[in-house]
Amino acid sequence: MKIETIAIHAGNRKDKDTHAAIQPITLSTTFERGEDGDYPGGFIYSRIDNPNRSALENVIAKLEGAEDAAAFSSGNAAGSAVFQALGTGAHIIAPDDMYHGLRNQLLQVFKGIIDVSFVDQSSIEAIKAAIRPETKLIWIETPSNPLLKVCDIRSIATLAKEKNIIIVCDNTFSTPINQRPLQLGCDIVMHSTTKYLSGHSDVIGGALACNTNNDFWKKIRNVQVLAGAVPSPFDSYLTVRGIKTLPYRMKGHSSNAAIVAEYLNNHPLVEKVFYPGLKDHTGYVIAKSQMSAFGGMLSFLVKGGSDEARKVVNSVKIFTQATSLGGVESLIEHRASIEGPETKTPQNLIRVSVGLENADDLIEDLGMALLKIGKIK
Ligand SMILES: *Cc1c(COP(=O)(O)O)cnc(C)c1O
Repeated sequence: MKIETIAIHAGNRKDKDTHAAIQPITLSTTFERGEDGDYPGGFIYSRIDNPNRSALENVIAKLEGAEDAAAFSSGNAAGSAVFQALGTGAHIIAPDDMYHGLRNQLLQVFKGIIDVSFVDQSSIEAIKAAIRPETKLIWIETPSNPLLKVCDIRSIATLAKEKNIIIVCDNTFSTPINQRPLQLGCDIVMHSTTKYLSGHSDVIGGALACNTNNDFWKKIRNVQVLAGAVPSPFDSYLTVRGIKTLPYRMKGHSSNAAIVAEYLNNHPLVEKVFYPGLKDHTGYVIAKSQMSAFGGMLSFLVKGGSDEARKVVNSVKIFTQATSLGGVESLIEHRASIEGPETKTPQNLIRVSVGLENADDLIEDLGMALLKIGKIK
């Protein structure tokens, strides 16, 4: 089956009793046992498994070409399950611009438990230099947040294999529609399903998918059930519902973002645009070799500083000034102020999640907002 067909059918379980065409939401926390003490429906208790969660895990596994997938109550909980499965004393290598929520999790929650080296992963030499005997895992994120830096999944995966190190890719920005890390050599893929997979900015969720159901994966499954950060049946249902249109939404996000990136790239009040689909982007060639489309995320530097960037995000009318990404509506944010005082993100950087509105309207809105900083000068 092709990806559009998988997206629609792999997350559905028709109801055998009612013949409802769409899977109902099973709110029951517990499931009746048979006379022999068995579980005739295959379910025991909803923290362990639930029909809606199981349907969600099935569609994500199929989309990523994975042997198995596990759903969590947030992207951060999915990341945490990987780190918990590693155990005390592990060293990991993560991107120097790792998603800040997971970076802070490693530095605060896993302080003293896991040791992290943050490196610029666009350099394979930098990754090699950071490997130690106790390095258990390389975490990659490409394109990264918020500079859309690209790392070479194939060569990092080859390096990891040589050294017997687990490699995990945060594929939130690309989704399995645009990039399939397991096919490029990764062991595990991580998603914040809060973003494109659910797609409508109304559910927090996360997922992991594995290349092989090995011992490490079994540990992750054990953490999922015993640590218990599982998604509710309703959240699982909403995510399955969102995934049905994912392939078509991603086409729209990618084509709209390409138009917006091109427009900003030619704008006199814009200093630089970061979008992997632009030919002058440093990661363009690698991105083209591992992505089938470049996605809906971009960022840009306005001429000026924090004041000018804030003026732009305060002046748009169609974009909503908010953090997060991946919904059908366009979002815009002054990134440095959400990341906090220690951020390395430039003060004049604006991050955009390009939605599915008409690209002409988005361009007009950005153009109007940029004119406001033209007037400041
Ligand atoms: C949002 C996000 C996360 C964290 O996901 P939550 O669902 O907010 O916990 C992780 N990685 C990336 C790239 C993200 O954008």
